[in-house]
Amino acid sequence: MMTANEVRESFKKFFEGKGHKIVPSAPMVIKDDPTLMFTNAGMNQWKDIILGTKDPGKDVRRVDTQKCLRVSGKHNDLEEVGHDTYHHTMFEMLGNWSFGDYFKEGAIDMAWEYLTGVLKLNPADLYVTVFEGSKEEGLERDNEAAGYWAKHVPADHIINGNKHDNFWEMGDTGPCGPCSEIHVDSRTPEEKAQVPGRELVNKDNPQVIEIWNIVFMQYNRKADGSLEPLPMHVIDTGMGFERLVRMLQDKHSNYDTDIFQPIIKEIEAISGKKYGFTTPTGENGEGKDEQEKIDIAMRVCADHLRAVAFSIADGQLPSNAKAGYVIRRILRRAVRYAYTFLGQKQAFMYKLVNVLVEQMGAAFPELPAQQELITRVMKEEEDSFLRTLEKGINLLNGDMDELKAHGETQLDGVSAFRLFDTYGFPLDLTELICRENGYTVDAAGFDEEMKKQKERARNAAAVENGDWEVLKEGDQNFVGYDYTEYECHILRYRKVT
Ligand code: ATP
Ligand code: MG
Ligand code: MG
Ligand code: MG
Repeated sequence: MMTANEVRESFKKFFEGKGHKIVPSAPMVIKDDPTLMFTNAGMNQWKDIILGTKDPGKDVRRVDTQKCLRVSGKHNDLEEVGHDTYHHTMFEMLGNWSFGDYFKEGAIDMAWEYLTGVLKLNPADLYVTVFEGSKEEGLERDNEAAGYWAKHVPADHIINGNKHDNFWEMGDTGPCGPCSEIHVDSRTPEEKAQVPGRELVNKDNPQVIEIWNIVFMQYNRKADGSLEPLPMHVIDTGMGFERLVRMLQDKHSNYDTDIFQPIIKEIEAISGKKYGFTTPTGENGEGKDEQEKIDIAMRVCADHLRAVAFSIADGQLPSNAKAGYVIRRILRRAVRYAYTFLGQKQAFMYKLVNVLVEQMGAAFPELPAQQELITRVMKEEEDSFLRTLEKGINLLNGDMDELKAHGETQLDGVSAFRLFDTYGFPLDLTELICRENGYTVDAAGFDEEMKKQKERARNAAAVENGDWEVLKEGDQNFVGYDYTEYECHILRYRKVT
């Protein structure tokens, strides 16, 4: 069985053998693009080449693995993470590109050869999709791609897909195009005999999942929503590395692969709880729910660890604004899961950094290079949130008791804002805890309170400076976000330098 590290290498080697230049992953954190905070796909770093504003030079074929983060904007998978077993916040996207070189036929042939010829996936388990066309966009069905697939797969393994699944877009604007995706059916023979795999493609079945998207970049989506043709045809592919490894290691969850197992094992060792313990412990199965919560919490922590560690390694620290706040939200989410379901009342995530570096450090040298910073920032960030977490949870529990007593189901914006302002609860964390208990949150009311707060802060002469709120001595009294001592420390420090 191939290890994850071997799979990653084999992908690069295969495409290198097909004339592709191996290139490094771009940083996950994007600093110079107003439309995107984090890399969400392999093609982001080639945007200028694809739009024709940058010359690709002689390297018109490239291959890499790209660190991606999907927690904001058009691609936001945060709610799924941990609850399913194949969406991550941070993941690796394996990709091969052709800038004006080969197009649909070459891309399809190579993908098929790699999966079935090199990796020996069973063709009977693979389904491919093609864009069915769109009247509103004036686009035809992609018969060309369907024709090339027909060289390799039987007709009943080629499936039409709609705009949502088979027309890939980076964001609201930017390069886009029809695509073909490859899906793998990893169900048991008995399950396969009951329902044909083709009926489960793109249906959120956890055992019939998409692994590879081959995008035929032909258009640029303009700000007014219209499409214009790209100056050249571009092949842009993205394969979910963790999903591929899972298929090759014959597992039913990404978390059961050697990518995540060392981290899960460490979480088990620290927490004294077991992962994936499916036999109910309670008499009438009441233990099962408890176990499920533990499993979800472990998956969330294992996943979020990677997102936060890679982000810090790329130079984005948790902070109060923009990209930094996204990272803070992810870490606080993990801290709360560990606190509530894994019994971790002290900083805990930072203890997992060692194992992550061991597992991924060879492929991503920025991890070992920044290990000390990652560990320290994570611990301080955890410590500071843990100082208010319990009080916040108690307060929220009280609020929910009130709601229950009054037969109401929605937490008001003022209460949600108080949790944010005084206890450092990001809105999505409050929403998550409320959802777990059957309540919703008045997000519009929260925004209203936030606006008022910002107004107050502005009046008090706080100056906003990108990711950093620049403080004057004594300012922390009225800048009422969720400043921690740690952060004020950095801010002061930055100001002095
Ligand atoms: P899905 O439908 O499963 O959400 P997607 O269609 O949004 O995936 P693409 O934008 O086509 O994904 O990205 C290319 C590939 O990246 C996918 O085929 C999948 O293997 C992988 N991928 C996408 N999102 C995630 C994620 N959140 N975690 C892990 N892998 C992912
Ligand atoms: Mg998706
Ligand atoms: Mg999809
Ligand atoms: Mg897709």
